[in-house]
Amino acid sequence: MNCQAATRELSNYIDNELDASLRAELEEHLHGCTHCTVVLSQIKHTVEVFCDAEPVALPPDTRQRLYEALQKKLNSTL
Ligand SMILES: [Zn+2]
Repeated sequence: MNCQAATRELSNYIDNELDASLRAELEEHLHGCTHCTVVLSQIKHTVEVFCDAEPVALPPDTRQRLYEALQKKLNSTL
């Protein structure tokens, strides 16, 4: 798995929507990739801020904007 694929899956990872094999692949990538670990913590932090620590999904448009921003950030650092 590369960084772009990993970033794409981070939302599903946080929501626990990945199947076991994909989750394992992503976790393996995260272990070796500081960049994606930072992105993951940023998303988690953003989700917590948006949801006030309640286990509620982000609205789809908010999620979309967040991911577009993260993809741009990722693309600019690769
Ligand atoms: Zn990565």
